[in-house]
Amino acid sequence: MKTAIYPGSFDPVTYGHLDIISRAAKLFDKVIVLVSFNPAKPNCFFSLEERMEFVRRALSELKNAENVEVDSHDGLLVDYFKRREADVIVKGLRAMSDFEAEFQMALVNKDLHYKAETVFLAADVTGTFLSSSMVKQIAAFGGDVSAFVPHTIINDVKTRLEIKK
Ligand code: ADP
Repeated sequence: MKTAIYPGSFDPVTYGHLDIISRAAKLFDKVIVLVSFNPAKPNCFFSLEERMEFVRRALSELKNAENVEVDSHDGLLVDYFKRREADVIVKGLRAMSDFEAEFQMALVNKDLHYKAETVFLAADVTGTFLSSSMVKQIAAFGGDVSAFVPHTIINDVKTRLEIKK
């Protein structure tokens, strides 16, 4: 029984995240999408509850999400990893720009806990440029984000993000 943890801010969840979740769900027996507090990104636009609810709703778009659960955590990832007796941390890699920070994080987590292995999944070609920040910027000006944001949450995301004129 192999358990993978996929941590992130998911502010909000995108089709790029969903692609990683779906692929991880095929590779591991259980996947925990961990909506986390990241000190490097302290100012999430959406509340923790909203981000978790968006991930839950978006999972209904996947055919193979029976082994996926959503949880939250605001401490050290390795503490959660130990508590859940997980096997792997899953990360998505978009471009070289992700690599340095993710590589550093993987080494730190391994140093903090020798069992904390990180597995990187390469982003789908269509998602290499896709980020939550980009979605927020485009939607704020009324741009079309329907190709990037799960259709089960898009109306709520748009309503919250659009700058009221
Ligand atoms: P972001 O980096 O967009 O703010 P998160 O902090 O929520 O998003 O990212 C969580 C994880 O998902 C990270 O490993 C990140 O590299 C990965 N990820 C984010 N967007 C994508 C994408 N479009 N394709 C693949 N992986 C992604």
